[in-house]
Amino acid sequence: MNKRILITGAAGFLGSHLSDRFIKEGYHVIGMDNLVTGSLKNIEHLFPLKEFEFYHHDVSRFVHVPGQLDYILHFASPASPIDYLKMPIQTLKVGSLGTHNLLGLAKSKNARMLIASTSEVYGDPEVHPQNEDYWGHVNPVGPRGVYDEAKRFQEAITMAYHNFHGLQTRIIRIFNTYGPRMRLDDGRALPAFMGQALRGEDITVFGDGSQTRSFCYVDDLVEGIHRLLLCDYAYPVNIGNPNEITIKEFAEEIIKLTGTNQKIVYHPLPTDDPKQRKPDITRAKSILGWEPKVDRAEGLRITYDYFKNLPEFKK
Ligand code: UDP
Repeated sequence: MNKRILITGAAGFLGSHLSDRFIKEGYHVIGMDNLVTGSLKNIEHLFPLKEFEFYHHDVSRFVHVPGQLDYILHFASPASPIDYLKMPIQTLKVGSLGTHNLLGLAKSKNARMLIASTSEVYGDPEVHPQNEDYWGHVNPVGPRGVYDEAKRFQEAITMAYHNFHGLQTRIIRIFNTYGPRMRLDDGRALPAFMGQALRGEDITVFGDGSQTRSFCYVDDLVEGIHRLLLCDYAYPVNIGNPNEITIKEFAEEIIKLTGTNQKIVYHPLPTDDPKQRKPDITRAKSILGWEPKVDRAEGLRITYDYFKNLPEFKK
């Protein structure tokens, strides 16, 4: 019988790519999503497959999955600043109550559970690059607190289930990731810039654009997740691309790629927007033998092709 894996947030950007990958690996994938930020469009190609089933469910409420379960990937959560500012309570609930429900499910099924944590646990970091031993610099009552603290709690309760119940758990800290199926209106830099270029609007850089990020192509991330799930390591592992760039340079790269000649306009920097971010991936390299393969020029081209071909932009 195929291994059975539950993927929460399956209709989202990362969840849908993970569903594709695990189907390809020969798993039976049970996708779950409450569709507040995810879209069935991301997984409609999977519905005809007998290896895929979908539950429209909010994991903050009791989760029931009949039959055997070997793995759980918990990827449900609003994940962009715009989304979690719109849904602060849901964000806190899916990271806390949702994680608790899924850990309970994992325990009852004797399944291994991997949780999607984030570089946001490092907050606006005071060390650079960030390695897994850094405890972070997070404002719990700022606008990002609902996401950052939910994810920090999620890591804590996952470690507690590991230590107290002996549950097999994995924690990935995901740094900025991009690729096809990002939502055009989720407020993130990449879809914002590409959408603006395609609509002929000015490119909105927040602050003076000197803040840095390090962008990882989604296929590289999925490869890292696959390796982490199957390895034997319960502590957090950073997965991201250490190639760091300022947001202004990033906007300029996208303008060049799209050939649209849009001009950059500067908007105020959102509260608590981290000034710099770059993963230290020493641990991922040594434990998983993983490092990113897709360079930004290639990843951006593939992603732009996706956005260009969306129905709203097709002439
Ligand atoms: N950003 C920007 N213009 C936009 C959207 C975002 O300059 O239209 C900036 C944002 O303030 C941040 C960076 O781009 O400094 C990355 O933002 P994103 O939301 O993609 O990721 P996160 O801040 O969660 O790392």
